Amino acid sequence: MKKKDLISVVIPTYNEEEVINIFYDKINIISKDMKFVNFEFIFVDDGSTDNSLNIIKKLNSLDKRVRFISFSRNFGKEAAIYAGLKSSLGNFVTIMDCDLQDPPELLNDMYNAVTEEGFDAAAIYSLSHKDYSFFRNLLTKIWYKINSSLSGNLEKPGTRDYRLMSKKVIDSLLSMQEVNRYTRGLYSYMGYNIKWIAINTDDRAAGKSKFNLRKLFSYSIDAISSTSTKPLLLSAYIGLLFCLIAFIFIIIIIVKTIIWGDPVSGWPSLVCIIIFLSGIQLFFLGIIGIYLSKLYLEIKKRPLYFINDTEKDKKKGDK
Ligand code: UDP
Ligand code: MG
Repeated sequence: MKKKDLISVVIPTYNEEEVINIFYDKINIISKDMKFVNFEFIFVDDGSTDNSLNIIKKLNSLDKRVRFISFSRNFGKEAAIYAGLKSSLGNFVTIMDCDLQDPPELLNDMYNAVTEEGFDAAAIYSLSHKDYSFFRNLLTKIWYKINSSLSGNLEKPGTRDYRLMSKKVIDSLLSMQEVNRYTRGLYSYMGYNIKWIAINTDDRAAGKSKFNLRKLFSYSIDAISSTSTKPLLLSAYIGLLFCLIAFIFIIIIIVKTIIWGDPVSGWPSLVCIIIFLSGIQLFFLGIIGIYLSKLYLEIKKRPLYFINDTEKDKKKGDK
C-alpha cells in the first residue's frame, strides 16, 4: 500500500495569541476532511512577546502533529518562513498566515493540483484585500506596478506567500541561501509549473496586522534590492541623460554668445539646477548605499535566526 503523503503546514507567528486557537481549530477540521494525507503543523514563533508560545506549547502537548520553533527574538516573517521550510518533514509544504487570511479550505484543491493535475505548486493571489485601508490599497497598487516593472513582470500582482509546493520546489527554494530573503521574489525566480488560484482576501480572524507603514516600506526596499539590480542601472541611465542635456545646453550657450554676444544671466535658475542635480546625485548614492549594505550583510553570512526553543522529539536537526 502506498504510504500516505505528509503535508507540512508552516505558520509564521508573531504575537498572535488571539488567533492561534481559532486557526488550529480550522486547520484541524480541514485535516479531518483530508484523511487521505498526514499533516504536521509547524508554528514558527518569531520572538512573540505575548502568550503565543505558551498557546502553541499547549497545542503541542495535546496534538503531536503540532511542532514549534521559537526564535530568540523577532527576526521577521521571511526568517520564520525559511526556518519552517528547513525543518519541514513533509513531501509537500504549505505556508500559511495564522490570521486565517489564507483560507485553509483551499488546501484540498491545491493538493489535487499538485498530485492529480501535474502542477509543481499551487499558489494563491489576491484580487482584493477587505482589511486594507484606502491608503494601503493605493500603496499596494503602486508597489505592484513598480515591482512588476523591476522584476520584468515575473511576480504576479497580489501574490501571497500561501502556496502548496512539491519537494522539488521546496528544495529549490531552500537552495537559495541568501540572507536578504524575499520569498515571493524567490518563487518567481524559480519558475516551475504553477496553478494560480485567485481569492478575495478576508479580514483577519482577530488581532492586528503586524506590518505598519514603516515596516512595509523597509520590506519593499528589501524586496526590490533582493530581486532586481535595475535601480542601479537606472542611476547610470539618468546620469547619461543629464550629461546629454548638459552637452546640448553648452552648445546653445556657446552659439548664443558667438552670434548674439548674449551675456549669460540668472543665478537663481543656476541655484535651482545645482540643488536639483545634487538631489539626484544623493538619491542615487543612497540607492548604491542600499545595495552595498545588503552586500555587507550577505558577506557576513550571519544566521538568519537563532532558535531558543523547539519541541522535544525533534526529528530533523536544524542547526
Ligand atoms: N509575522 C511574523 N513576523 C513578523 C511579522 C508577521 O512571523 O515580524 C507573521 C504574522 O504572525 C502572520 C503573518 O506573518 O501570521 C502575516 O502577518 P500580518 O497578518 O500581520 O500581515 P498582513 O496580512 O497585514 O500583511
Ligand atoms: Mg494578515
